[in-house]
Amino acid sequence: MYDFVVVGVGPAGARFSRRAAEAGYDVLAFEQGRLGEPLACSGHVSGDIWQYAGEGARDDLLQNEVYGARFHVEGPESDFEDFYKTEVVSNVIDRVGLDRHLAELAREAGAEVREDHTVTNVDEGDDSVTVTVRGPDGVADVEAKMVAGCDGPTSRVRRDLDLPEPDELLHGVLGFSDEEDHGDRVDVHLTMPEFFAWRIPRGDAGVEYGLAASPGPDVNELFDDLVGPAGYDVDVTKRCSGLIPVGPADSVTSHRGFLVGDAAAQTKPFTGGGILYGMRSADHAAREIEPDRPGTLGAYEAAWRDELATEIRLGHWIRRAYSLPEPVQRLGLKAFSGEIGVHMDRPTSVFSREHLASWLGRS
Ligand SMILES: Cc1cc2nc3c(=O)[nH]c(=O)nc-3n(C[C@H](O)[C@H](O)[C@H](O)COP(=O)(O)OP(=O)(O)OC[C@H]3O[C@@H](n4cnc5c(N)ncnc54)[C@H](O)[C@@H]3O)c2cc1C
Repeated sequence: MYDFVVVGVGPAGARFSRRAAEAGYDVLAFEQGRLGEPLACSGHVSGDIWQYAGEGARDDLLQNEVYGARFHVEGPESDFEDFYKTEVVSNVIDRVGLDRHLAELAREAGAEVREDHTVTNVDEGDDSVTVTVRGPDGVADVEAKMVAGCDGPTSRVRRDLDLPEPDELLHGVLGFSDEEDHGDRVDVHLTMPEFFAWRIPRGDAGVEYGLAASPGPDVNELFDDLVGPAGYDVDVTKRCSGLIPVGPADSVTSHRGFLVGDAAAQTKPFTGGGILYGMRSADHAAREIEPDRPGTLGAYEAAWRDELATEIRLGHWIRRAYSLPEPVQRLGLKAFSGEIGVHMDRPTSVFSREHLASWLGRS
């Protein structure tokens, strides 16, 4: 019997598999397709990402460095307010490459990672879990002491363990043009229902256009407007889409199972970003959970909430600003624009000495 079966090998599943294997546990991880595919993510992350990567990864994965964001309350031609740092704020990375790299690190640590294996059922017993998996050689049952649901926003594990759903699922769409752009600003348009649209320069890898919105409006039509003649007016290929869970439920653990990453809605409510929150939570899971002691699941639940709950709560407040009336948004952006000291993964850094100093310095 395995100690852990991990369902899904995105950043959260790969990180948990690696850390649990390093701790000496027997880990078997299933990924339903090929690692990193299909792409449905901008791969726009803070420099913290490199703490989770191996040697040489930065050279292979980094596409561009970003120093700030231009915020628009309307479309591409409108005025904007510039928010920036004198040092790098964020990195634009090859997300497919990241997933493959993280999975390789998990394999090197001793975890068994199987691609093209879809988990179709999870049955939780008193002393073990039975995971049914369909692979190239047919259907099989695998026994483990615990199951880790790292299977993304529409998690099958979450459903089978009868765990509550996230508060909300936003719908995101992305597309890429082949313009070469090494610019150091992303553009953010506060024009979407309860969220925003963006343009990200990806160096030699082209330019990404994207948006996310709450369910309701047809996001594909909104995307056509963003890249069409009334918007950026560019040729976009490779369109893709995905869901962004927001607002973790009250519980992400059961008797012999637990959720990590998007399955647990461990995301930033004001950007939808979840790569780093998922991996930080995976580290808590690997440190706290002992497969022979289901009682340790409570320690995981407490540890990740201790680290992220305040950031997530503040992130919900920031997101409310996206729905303010346009004149209020204009005033707010003008008041806060300029040099900032905020860390993109830590909204609470808005209260940091660094940020307050740069804000007071210009007021
Ligand atoms: C449009 C868009 C843009 C985004 N941009 C950013 C960004 O710039 N920065 C950022 O930090 N975050 C971004 N995100 C969010 C980010 O993609 C997620 O937070 C992140 O991928 C979560 O990682 P995860 O490992 O939890 O889940 P996932 O990356 O979704 O991985 C889950 C894995 O589980 C597999 N799986 C699912 N079901 C099964 C099954 N039954 N059996 C086996 N395998 C299964 C899937 O194939 C998948 O590989 C974006 C999301 C969207 C939709």
